[in-house]
Amino acid sequence: MVDTSHPATPPELERGASLAPLTTIRVGGPADYLAGASSFRAVVRVLGWARARDLPVAIIGRGSNLLVSDEGWRGVALRLHGRLTAISVRGTDVWCGGGASLPRAVQRAAKAGLTGLEWGASIPGTAGGAVAMNAGAHRSDLSEILRWAVVCSADGRRRVGPRELDLGYRRSSVAAGEVVAAVSFGLSRGRPEVIAGLLDEFRGYRRSSQPQGVRTFGSVFTNPEGDSAGRLLEHAGCKGLAVGEARFSPVHANFIEAAPGTRSQDVLALMRAGRDRVLSAGGPRLTAEVRYLDPERGIIPAPLDEIAGEAG
Ligand SMILES: Cc1cc2nc3c(=O)[nH]c(=O)nc-3n(C[C@H](O)[C@H](O)[C@H](O)COP(=O)(O)OP(=O)(O)OC[C@H]3O[C@@H](n4cnc5c(N)ncnc54)[C@H](O)[C@@H]3O)c2cc1C
Repeated sequence: MVDTSHPATPPELERGASLAPLTTIRVGGPADYLAGASSFRAVVRVLGWARARDLPVAIIGRGSNLLVSDEGWRGVALRLHGRLTAISVRGTDVWCGGGASLPRAVQRAAKAGLTGLEWGASIPGTAGGAVAMNAGAHRSDLSEILRWAVVCSADGRRRVGPRELDLGYRRSSVAAGEVVAAVSFGLSRGRPEVIAGLLDEFRGYRRSSQPQGVRTFGSVFTNPEGDSAGRLLEHAGCKGLAVGEARFSPVHANFIEAAPGTRSQDVLALMRAGRDRVLSAGGPRLTAEVRYLDPERGIIPAPLDEIAGEAG
């Protein structure tokens, strides 16, 4: 443990905070340190403090695509708040702090008569998390509207464009320990009734096709070229398949529902069982979309090949 009374210690630092409530699936153990930052300067300060002490940093947005290890995290978990959750409309651009809610940004854009972001209405993440993941839905994604992002590291901040971020299918070049602290979306003027119609359509689609009111982290696997992970998992008999308190949703096979008491080991074992069933049924090897916070290695792709356990 480090001396947190050192003068350079960031003011908002909590020890041993549970990370489960900071994720939508509500699974996982505590972080050695939980830090908050509400300005670019505060973000750089936390990153510099951690680097000086050799502590790795994991950025947590809304935790809507994140599975935290049962053992928690032997580093610093950093969240953005205050001014870095603000949203403002500037002409046809929407500026968001990296911790701003994406659905709230969608609402603000719609209210200002701006179109281009409606697909994000039901993606429960932050603007920064949406950049890191290149979030998308309904055949659109963030790469189509991103003008620039402010990325902070321990060395300071820089403004980068979409090309530098190398946005691909649910991926970007944002490196571990780098923080997307602000984002600007370039939208266009639209007709209010058309915008409202699109929002209704997209929200209605979610309500009818995905589990509601349960703990999930969204899609478990990315869609392989030309097919859908949900279809493949359903075809392989995964709907309702369970390990411990975690099960593949009976509503949509590419969602895992976690009842209270779920362990991240169960979720990983279930994911591996689903992936292996699809392979046994002659399908492709699915790739996890969800990120995993490993106690020592930080945020990595879900390590399915390291998991023991049987699905029941
Ligand atoms: C019900 C439900 C539906 C969903 N539907 C969709 C969908 O349709 N399309 C889709 O793409 N996703 C979907 N998701 C997944 C998820 O909402 C997105 O991936 C979202 O972009 C993640 O944002 P977050 O802030 O929650 O990131 P987190 O889950 O907190 O983190 C995910 C990754 O992003 C990194 N990260 C987060 N914030 C920052 C930051 N400010 N700077 C740098 N790195 C950061 C984290 O370190 C981590 O590697 C869904 C999730 C749920 C629960």
